[in-house]
Amino acid sequence: RTCSTSTPVTTVSQYACQRRTTTENHNKIFTDAFEVLAESYEFSEMEGPCLAFRRAASVLKSLPWAVRSLGATLDLPCLGEHTKAVMEEVLQCGRSFEVEKILSDERYRTLKLFTSVFGVGPKTAEKWYRRGLRSFTDILADRSIHLNQMQQTGFLHYGDITRAVSKAEARSLRNIIDEAVRAITPAAIVALTGGFRRGKEFGHDVDFIVTTPELGKEKILLPNIINGLKKQGILLFCDYQASTFDMAKLPSYRFEAMDHFAKCFLILRLEASQVEGGLHIAEGDSRGWRAVRVDLVSPPVDRYAFALLGWTGSRQFERDLRRFARVKQRMILDNHCLYDKTKKEFLAATTEKDIFAHLGLEYIEPWQRNA
Ligand code: ATP
Ligand code: MN
Ligand code: MN
Repeated sequence: RTCSTSTPVTTVSQYACQRRTTTENHNKIFTDAFEVLAESYEFSEMEGPCLAFRRAASVLKSLPWAVRSLGATLDLPCLGEHTKAVMEEVLQCGRSFEVEKILSDERYRTLKLFTSVFGVGPKTAEKWYRRGLRSFTDILADRSIHLNQMQQTGFLHYGDITRAVSKAEARSLRNIIDEAVRAITPAAIVALTGGFRRGKEFGHDVDFIVTTPELGKEKILLPNIINGLKKQGILLFCDYQASTFDMAKLPSYRFEAMDHFAKCFLILRLEASQVEGGLHIAEGDSRGWRAVRVDLVSPPVDRYAFALLGWTGSRQFERDLRRFARVKQRMILDNHCLYDKTKKEFLAATTEKDIFAHLGLEYIEPWQRNA
């Protein structure tokens, strides 16, 4: 479409949970620039501007048309002075000077490189940067640095883990998890979640929810799945976190980002022979297998809908669901429950649709949650 006909007819909500965002992004030139700025602010711990750029990117991702002039953005929420200045530069020059400056900045480049290692967060990256380290060679040569198990595995499988996981690989992993789970209890429930549930073609990992129809029986799942994968010889790494979930403590978990369900962050060995069309690896790589990141979370079945909604993402969609619940409905939503502060009661849900209905929101399909 041309920009003269692209003015939105209906108003765009400031909440991602009131927008439908597919994987088709018509404004990638802007959102890629915003993502660099957001990340740069994140590295400087400036949460305000970081969030502002993430919100702006999310609004542009939801548009079924490409922005071709600043005039077309007049009715859009979440676009401030700074965002518009960047957009103007991109519209006029095809690139943003500010973004290019960040991309060539030594600190940004180093922190980006270090945090690309599995197990290395912004704090560790910053610490290494302050010590004067600038490359992986620097880190591995520094005898005073102790790498934990996760980081050692991160370096060992760096190439594979930083390489995107394909849909075909995700399907194959689903079969592997399905089989491991059925061997424990045939009635078990396995659900694909995360980016692949949102219809993405590629992901940085594959996320699954596993539980049992019988409440309480889910406790045996993860330890047994992990054992099964180990016996198959395909478990390359496992960080298992036992459940700390306690119904009696709800809804006071609200200030934490993570949930309290049992979960594990895995690295699995995936054989080429198990993937339709072959592995998504570098051309010329003939190992016949690759390492892939897999996350499993195991909530009690009565928490299933909340866990599924929380783990499907995107992160921005989740943030806005919670914010909408808090600001518009005086409710607390997290991965465990929905609590109505006015009525002082928990709102029950067995499906995601129940949760959207409680929140007074139109249902948004998983593939429309790519905010
Ligand atoms: P990608 O394709 O890059 O993996 P994704 O959307 O699947 O994208 P993930 O990091 O796998 O991203 O996270 C999936 C969802 O699970 C997100 O909505 C995130 O909020 C949630 N999530 C991830 N890790 C945790 C955790 N430790 N505790 C609670 N929720 C989490
Ligand atoms: Mn994921
Ligand atoms: Mn994940």
